[in-house]
Amino acid sequence: MSRRKLVAGNWKMHGLRGQLAEIAKIDAAAAAAPGVDVALCVPATLVHPASEIARSVQIGGQDVHANDRGAHTGCVSAEMLVEAGATIVIVGHSERRADQNETSHDAWAKAAAARRHGLNVILCCGETEAERDAGRAERVVQAQIEKSVPEGASGDWFTLAYEPRWAIGTGRTPSPDEIAQVHAIARAKLRQMVGDAADGIRILYGGSVTGANAAAILSIDDVDGALVGGASLTADKFVPIIEAAA
Ligand code: PGA
Repeated sequence: MSRRKLVAGNWKMHGLRGQLAEIAKIDAAAAAAPGVDVALCVPATLVHPASEIARSVQIGGQDVHANDRGAHTGCVSAEMLVEAGATIVIVGHSERRADQNETSHDAWAKAAAARRHGLNVILCCGETEAERDAGRAERVVQAQIEKSVPEGASGDWFTLAYEPRWAIGTGRTPSPDEIAQVHAIARAKLRQMVGDAADGIRILYGGSVTGANAAAILSIDDVDGALVGGASLTADKFVPIIEAAA
């Protein structure tokens, strides 16, 4: 089944208003590539100004609280993201799993909260280097999917991102065969959980994607796009990845 590619940027804790000019340039490139979906998940402080600039790029957050409101100092709710102009959000990123001890169950609850308020969701999974070395990568990813993918997930709002932790920000990537193998296993697991709807769900690869390797990675079976960190911060690095997906 052919799925439209999604190229999503994750700015992490980078970006002040001065960087909004990059969003305008990326938006122009996205407008020129109508066959590709493009998203930028920016710091919460930039969601509103970015959404006022973007016409062809979906603007998103990088995390959301599982509750709709309450005494949760420092957190942002799905409704707040929507009001600020977000249409998409990342949940379960490995940096949050590592830094904030988030679990797959937390990712599940956050994805459900995002869905309740109409946000599209990019849910991340991926093994550590030790898990890969121990031959457990596939089992780890299957278990994460089982615990974190919400009921009724479907491609019109839900995207999975496979991001091996050891490939994030390191310049190292798995081989094309290794990526294909995990994506195939991830799709089979999704099929077990949501049936034929699994065919419509995009599975992105993330971890050290650049303009130089994007075309090769995006041509791998079952790779429906990319989640991009470092190379999404400036138009000169991100636009070639969008073009590779077009
Ligand atoms: P990277 O990050 O592209 O800088 O490796 C990817 C991510 O964390 O989503």
